[in-house]
Amino acid sequence: MKAISLRAKLTLWYTALFTFTVLAFAGAAQVLRSRALLKQFDEELRDELRWTEIFLSETDKGSARSKRRAGAALEARVRENIEQHFMLNKATHVLEIRNREMKLVYRSLLPADSLSQLFTFDQPLEQPVTVSYRGHDFRVLQKQATPYWIGVAVSLRPLYEVQRQLLRTFAWLFPLAMTVALGGGWLLAKYSMRPVSRVIQAARQITATNLSQRLPSYPAQDEIGALVETMNEMIARLESGVARIEQFSQDAAHELRTPLTILRGEMELALANNAGATELRRVLVSALEEISRTAKIVESLLFLAHADAGKMVLSKERVALHELATEVFEDAQALAEGRPLQLSLSAPEPVAVLGDASRLRRLLLNLVENAIKFTPEGKVEISLRRVDRSAVLTVRDTGIGIPPEHCAHIFERFYRVDSGRSRETGGCGLGLAICAAIAHAHDGEIRVQSPAVPADYAMPGAASGSLFEVKLPLMEKNPD
Ligand code: ADP
Repeated sequence: MKAISLRAKLTLWYTALFTFTVLAFAGAAQVLRSRALLKQFDEELRDELRWTEIFLSETDKGSARSKRRAGAALEARVRENIEQHFMLNKATHVLEIRNREMKLVYRSLLPADSLSQLFTFDQPLEQPVTVSYRGHDFRVLQKQATPYWIGVAVSLRPLYEVQRQLLRTFAWLFPLAMTVALGGGWLLAKYSMRPVSRVIQAARQITATNLSQRLPSYPAQDEIGALVETMNEMIARLESGVARIEQFSQDAAHELRTPLTILRGEMELALANNAGATELRRVLVSALEEISRTAKIVESLLFLAHADAGKMVLSKERVALHELATEVFEDAQALAEGRPLQLSLSAPEPVAVLGDASRLRRLLLNLVENAIKFTPEGKVEISLRRVDRSAVLTVRDTGIGIPPEHCAHIFERFYRVDSGRSRETGGCGLGLAICAAIAHAHDGEIRVQSPAVPADYAMPGAASGSLFEVKLPLMEKNPD
């Protein structure tokens, strides 16, 4: 099913709201008008009842003087006079008077002989009520005014006529209003969607191959302006993301090509020279070196790919960082064996974090290996302390240091200060990227500072040196 367009949706919403408003308005007008009319009718009824009551009592008083005038004669007088007084011109009003014996004295509008069921004359009515009589609705009020029962009623036909009139008016006004609403809504939606269409057109032109393009800036500071700005920011992020991936792929290909080229070159040479057993052995040893180097790169790439995809599996447990630092320190001593290096460890208090012990070990070992690698002679110090709610691990050295312009990039993949130098030392520029990935997976952070200042870190004879600092959140309850 074809999805309904936003423009059509807006139009429908607009029309629906408009319809609702018109209907609510019509309903309210109908109800208010009817109520007002009914109130007016009721008022009239009360007036008529009051008037009749006064009329009857006046007539009674007059006849009291001429004593013993028979009831029938009195009633005849009532009939006679009332015709003149009671609104003769009101074809919609009913007046009914009965005497003590419930005999009809007077009835207007309805034929005198018909059996009226408008009035019950059993109890007085304080408020007018609606009664249906022969298919017509009446408002009815009745009262006992000794010795008579008076009933007044008014037909509700005029009220219904007004209601019908209102309905008729709305019946032709409504389709007209709907047409205006639909047309207006459609135009309004078209006008307000025009900038969106332009953004869509412009966005269609931007593909993976021309991510340097941006959507044309939109002058108004409205939602469309915000959308354009947001999309441009997103395209900028995509551009740098894609650039990073491209760079990464190139670097990875380059890194893998170098050992393969060396392998191939050495083997071809050995074959061409008909190398003897000793030479073949040397080639094999070299090949093994290159293969393990390639395997290490592939393993590091896989590790980083997993980290990128958020699939780095961490078996989290309580990790006693002071113990881990001691283990790595011992490894470092073995690594630095026979080198003019002075290693030290400062972990004065137990510090525990929640993390993956083997990953954290790899992180620290990478940093320490680098420190040893890039410090021909001098000192390497591992330290661990608590700062606020964090565990802070630092690896400082008095080595060759990192030029400041490289510090900002040092954690990027394949980034090396001196690629020639790194190849000699066996690195391919993935170690620190892995360290950063591990730190981030533990909600921590890593930073570098070179030279390894401030002064209180300075070691005698330290010209430069580097300082790597890893901050990890402490475990909630720190065991002592
Ligand atoms: P590599 O495997 O090449 O050592 P890393 O990602 O671990 O890759 O390091 C990237 C680069 O950072 C290294 O090539 C080196 O130039 C520089 N570097 C890392 N640690 C140190 C350090 N302690 N002292 C000086 N330079 C360092």
